[in-house]
Amino acid sequence: MLELHELSTSYGPVKALRGVSFTAKEGAITAVLGANGAGKTTLLRTISGLLRPTSGTATFAGTDLVGTAPEKMPRLGLSHVPEGRGVITELTVEENLRLGGLGRGGKVRGDDLQRVFDLFPVLGERRTAVAHVLSGGERQMLVVGRALMARPRMLLLDEPSLGLAPRVVAQIFSLLRDLVAREGLAVLLVEQNARSALSIADHGVVLNLGAVVADQDAASLAADDTLRHAYLGF
Ligand code: ATP
Repeated sequence: MLELHELSTSYGPVKALRGVSFTAKEGAITAVLGANGAGKTTLLRTISGLLRPTSGTATFAGTDLVGTAPEKMPRLGLSHVPEGRGVITELTVEENLRLGGLGRGGKVRGDDLQRVFDLFPVLGERRTAVAHVLSGGERQMLVVGRALMARPRMLLLDEPSLGLAPRVVAQIFSLLRDLVAREGLAVLLVEQNARSALSIADHGVVLNLGAVVADQDAASLAADDTLRHAYLGF
């Protein structure tokens, strides 16, 4: 579904991505792992059109992403959930969700909202609450729910576990797994929390200094002591 070939991105003289190639499949979670500064956020920002690569290609369901404006991505079926919570705290849960449906063409259907409430019942219970009162975990569910309102075929998630307690991370990750099983969409999951990410991922890609050092199924990656110790910190 998403195919990257020799993708390189620089910030002036700083080469943040160096010839990254891998494929992320439909109906699967692909975890992108690596230490601080490995290039994970740069990778997501390059895929979603916020940064332009210096070389290489990125295609999504056959469409060339390089040069595609970020605002066109939702129509292609690609939804980027950036690092940090990003909810509008003055708006209610439902209003935040409705904003997520706008990128697709302005129409928000009641069944789109219901679908998100089915996946994240807590959001349905808090539908009329202002987002300001939500916990960190609930806010994370809200940003994922908001991205789902655009009915994406692929979600790009940047560090959804950041700042959350281990129990909440486990809950969010298990919901993500359910989501992929239920809806068959593709997820590219960028995480520093490699152990948790690999426990729900189908496939894992490890970045180090902007280059791919491993690209294999998640179970074999989690079982590889050398890779774990060298790059994943567990
Ligand atoms: P983290 O988990 O800390 O967010 P990361 O793996 O997402 O790390 P990036 O944020 O993609 O890594 O950074 C990759 C490299 O690019 C780092 O060396 C970083 O210092 C550099 N970098 C990131 N953003 C910029 C920028 N705006 N200008 C210059 N260099 C940058």
